[in-house]
Amino acid sequence: MSASRHPALLSTDPELASFVAAEEVLQAQTLRLIPSENYVSAAVLEASGTVLQNKYSEGYPGRRYYEGQQNIDRVEALAIERAKGLFGVDHANVQPYSGSPANLAVYLAFAKPGDTVMGMALPMGGHLTHGWGVSATGSWFRGVQYGVRADTGLVDYDAVREQALAERPKLIFCGGTALPRTIDFAAFAEIAREAGSILVADVAHIAGLIAGGAHPSPADHVDVVSTTTHKTLRGPRGAMLMCREEHAKAIDKAVFPGLQGGPHNQTTAGIAVALHEAAQPSFTAYAHAVVANAKALAAALLERGFDLVSGGTDNHLILIDLTGKDVPGKVAAKALDRAGIVVNYNTVPFDPRKPFDPSGVRIGTPSLTSRGLSTEHMPVVADWISRAVDAAAKGDEQALAAIRAEVTDLMAAFPAPGLPLS
Ligand SMILES: *Cc1c(COP(=O)(O)O)cnc(C)c1O
Repeated sequence: MSASRHPALLSTDPELASFVAAEEVLQAQTLRLIPSENYVSAAVLEASGTVLQNKYSEGYPGRRYYEGQQNIDRVEALAIERAKGLFGVDHANVQPYSGSPANLAVYLAFAKPGDTVMGMALPMGGHLTHGWGVSATGSWFRGVQYGVRADTGLVDYDAVREQALAERPKLIFCGGTALPRTIDFAAFAEIAREAGSILVADVAHIAGLIAGGAHPSPADHVDVVSTTTHKTLRGPRGAMLMCREEHAKAIDKAVFPGLQGGPHNQTTAGIAVALHEAAQPSFTAYAHAVVANAKALAAALLERGFDLVSGGTDNHLILIDLTGKDVPGKVAAKALDRAGIVVNYNTVPFDPRKPFDPSGVRIGTPSLTSRGLSTEHMPVVADWISRAVDAAAKGDEQALAAIRAEVTDLMAAFPAPGLPLS
């Protein structure tokens, strides 16, 4: 399929090249529904594979500890300017290696070990780095967690306020990895103000929706915005921290020299390209299409008798609760994978099962929307999911193989950005 795409790699290391080629085929043929994944453009892929990789540049544009930064400074300054413009913030740091180190830098900037920090509980949809026990953030800091209401699957802002006023956390995180609903940044801001806490919006999942105007922006409400660049934002694997001018020094010092050494300049270049793409009208259309697809898919799943956490979605993500079905999340996820539909198993709020064998499946529409699928295709996708879950319950491998053939067939008509045509 792509033997000639990486000629130097193929001749130097055919074994590794074969793995990459196989991954290209997999990404082309499957229906990728993992909500934190996407397809980057060919331009982002190219920028991420440049000789910028060869350069050490500890410090920040104009203030480096190494010489020869003429071009690197321009790359990083461009990425910073674009981030500021796109997200409407005073300051942007584009150096964090990924979302988890970005969040760790926020702790370093504003808290001391042992301080109380507050975030959404992991099994409720929060992220590990919001003070959950198995994370460094939960063992070096005193993590307290809020959740969602059992009856609605929504955040109870009155309960969050009560808890925040009782705990007076140094940091409050809003945002998460399995939240299908709009985050009320203004409500969190009021709570943080009352509690005297620094408010961090971790928008890793929804940054692209915010950039495209399909989710409200946290910029005017929070102290720090943390985001990855590789999810709905459709950039390379990396992260950014953004804030008002008053926190700029603390954030920059925490990222470097506090936590990291040299920035990954090839990634910075890819981020700059992704931010440029995200500023185009076509990206606004993309972000809205992601949400329209997710709403259509949620409606089609509900019609087919699926139970969805919070009853649906406002964004790119759907959390299917399989508690009422005969198959747990992991069995369903593995069966879907054999059917060419790639998802991840996930806990659902108040999950009666264990985190490594939970009751939910998490899906999302960023990748399929990048390939041009639209709302008219969502009933088909819901059908495949429904048939695959039924097949999993019956152990019907033939049915899964039949779905896989249908998936491969449809996906062949929707070439993915950055991938060679099949
Ligand atoms: C994905 C994610 C992260 C972590 O990003 P990594 O790049 O995987 O370290 C942090 N916070 C949230 C809310 C996320 O969804």
